[in-house]
Formats: sequence, C-alpha cells, structure tokens
Amino acid sequence: MYRAPRGTQDLLPEEAPYWRHVEEVIHQVCRRYGYRLIATPTFEETSLFVRGVGQGTDIVEKEMYSFEDKGGESLTLRPEATAPVVRAYLEHGMHALPQPVKLYSIISIFRYERPQAGRLREAHQLNVEALGEMDPALDAEVLCLALDFYRELGISGLSLQLNSTGCPQCRPAYVEELKRYYQGHLGQVCADCQVRYEKNPLRLLDCKVDRCQPILAGAPNIRSHLCPKCAGHFVQLLKYLDLLGLPYTINPRLVRGLDYYTKTVFEIWAPGIGAQNAVGGGGRYDGLAQELGGRPTPGIGIAMGIERIIMTMKSQGIAVRPEEPPRVFLAYLGQPAKEAALRLSATLRAAGLSALLSFGNRSLKAQLKQAGNSGAAYAVILGEEELKRGLVTLRDMARSQQVSVEIEGLPDRLRWR
Ligand SMILES: [Zn+2]
Ligand SMILES: [Zn+2]
Repeated sequence: MYRAPRGTQDLLPEEAPYWRHVEEVIHQVCRRYGYRLIATPTFEETSLFVRGVGQGTDIVEKEMYSFEDKGGESLTLRPEATAPVVRAYLEHGMHALPQPVKLYSIISIFRYERPQAGRLREAHQLNVEALGEMDPALDAEVLCLALDFYRELGISGLSLQLNSTGCPQCRPAYVEELKRYYQGHLGQVCADCQVRYEKNPLRLLDCKVDRCQPILAGAPNIRSHLCPKCAGHFVQLLKYLDLLGLPYTINPRLVRGLDYYTKTVFEIWAPGIGAQNAVGGGGRYDGLAQELGGRPTPGIGIAMGIERIIMTMKSQGIAVRPEEPPRVFLAYLGQPAKEAALRLSATLRAAGLSALLSFGNRSLKAQLKQAGNSGAAYAVILGEEELKRGLVTLRDMARSQQVSVEIEGLPDRLRWR
C-alpha cells in the first residue's frame, strides 16, 4: 500500500469548505487593497534561492528540494514565494507599471522539515507582495491587509509582533556587537546557538531554549543600533499603525530565517495551536532585487500558512458554511426510465441546478436511501408508465411527501420551490 510521502497530506473533501472559505476571503480582501493574482512556477533555478534566501540559512543549507533535470540543470521546488515573485517582476519589466506593484498568490512551498505538528514538507500559503515602494505607509497597509484577513476569518486574539532588523549599513555593526556579547557566554548557550554564533548570529535572538534565556535577556537591542534611515522608517511605521488603530508589540527578538529582510520584520500570532502560534510573517526586502541581479527595487511581503490558519480556526471553534447539498437526486425504474433520467440530469444541470444520478441497477428502495444520504432536497423518480404521459414523481425529502408533476416544467419548479 502506498501512502502520501512523509510530511505531506491529502486535502480531503471534508476539509474543502475551510480551504475554499480561506481562499475566497483572501481574494476579497486582496481586491479591496488593489492586489492582483500571480502564479509563478513550482520550481525555479536553484541559484535563485541560494542568492535570494541566502547561503547559510537553514532553508538553503538543509531544507531545499533540489534536483538535476534530464538536461543537467539544477532546479529547486520553491521553498518560499518572494524570490520567485521578485524574479517575475524583474523578468517582465514591471518597474514600468505604476508603483507599487501589488501581487498575491496561493501556492505550495516545499521544505525538507522535521515532520511535526504544523510543519509540513509541502505546505500551502497565501502570499502577498508589494514591490517598488519604500514608503513605511505601505508597510502599514500590508499589515492592515493581513489583520483584516484574519479578522474576517473570525480568528481572535491576534497579536502583531514587530521589529526592525536594520539594513546593510547598520546591521553589520550590530551583529558584531551581538557576537562580542555572546563571546563571553558561549560555554553556557545551547548547541544550536553555538552554530548560530558562527553562521547566522542574528538568529541567536530567537532561541527558545531555557538555558539561553538569561543570556538573551542581556543581549544588546538592535533598535539602538539602527541607522537614521532605518530608525526613521520604523518610527514612521509605528505612527501609521497608531493612525490605523492597529495594536502592536515591539519584539526586539523577532528575526526571520531568511537573509533578504531589511528594516521591518513582523509576525502575526494567534492563540490556538500551541508553541507554533505564528499564522503569518514577513517583512521588507529592499535589497533582494539587486541581489538577484536586477535594478534596485524595494519591496515588502507577508506569507500566511493555510494549514496553520485552518488549525487555528478549528481550535478557536470557528465553523464555516458547509458545502451545499445537491438540489435533486434522480432515481428510476428500468432501462427506458434510466435513459430518460440521464437526459433529465443534463437538462437540469444546463439550467444551473445540481443533480445527482443513480448508477448501477439498484432497487428503488436502495436509490431512495442514496438520495437521503446525499442530502438532496428532492428526489425525482422516473417510471416507465408515468413517463409515457410526460410525468415524473417529485419527492420532497424532508417532508416525505410526493406529487406527480410534468417533466417539462421540472427545471423551473426545482429552481423556485
Ligand atoms: Zn539601516
Ligand atoms: Zn540557544
């Protein structure tokens, strides 16, 4: 017996109402903010992610699904959405469009993660990117969009966690100071932090291990190391968030696992799924386009995990509208009636009605049982003798009442009843 690969899952029809609802809401909210849908390929050249996401990040070092195709080219299943969107922006000359260019997508991402609750190797996300604009008001708008989206889904207890990770002008000096501080404590920190110290010191800040907490508490704060531009951007963003009435928590320990972020970084937390309570996260990536060989193009984006969102909705007891049951189930007695039922099913569907047809040659009793299980509001029973007079039996399933009606008027009758 085959099973779905480790860290992947099937999306079964029972789950579909949640997925559909989440997708419908993101389409509505994005339209309100002027975002347009984009779809990039599932795989890209490997170097796009190595340069974009950054050598030394967990994603590039441990988590990418990279392979050589039959032509010998190195390709990678996309582990994140932003680098491909920036690649598409540059490739299609979107700088010539009015800026910012606002794009969103609904995608799978692939990361070789240790499978555990809420961590999948193929995960789905909603991705929102705004390119070509530095204005911190755009940062505020992106955050407002994300919060609107979660609220519209009914998720409560949202917390916006905010930080600035500076820029290439101010971050290196901060990282040096952070390393100087940790140098004296390397004997006390966890094994992961010892690796981070060498490879990705900023990530020392988001260690969750108990023994590292007292050391972290005394670590230097990046805010006091920001250059005037970064500091100004952050202060202005806070002002705009205040204007919009959006509460936030400044979290000096918030860093993200990708190298491309500059200035604003954020996560949105929601209670309900335990330790991994971030339902979305992102930030500014003003240097990414240049890193990819394009013209300087600032940008900001957020990724929101669909599986995590649905887990949160369920744990918060949020129900969604179930799928509508079929309008009518067609049952029949004998081959000529079956042929008439087949034609009738096509007529009803052409009239926009949802109709289920019985298959196989079951007894009428078994067919009516199927009709009941399907949740259909009505069953239509076709019998050979009745059909000769242009009649069928229409059964109201809830009331268990039936009447003889003309087959001709059936579409109208089922629509208006
Ligand atoms: Zn700076
Ligand atoms: Zn640690």
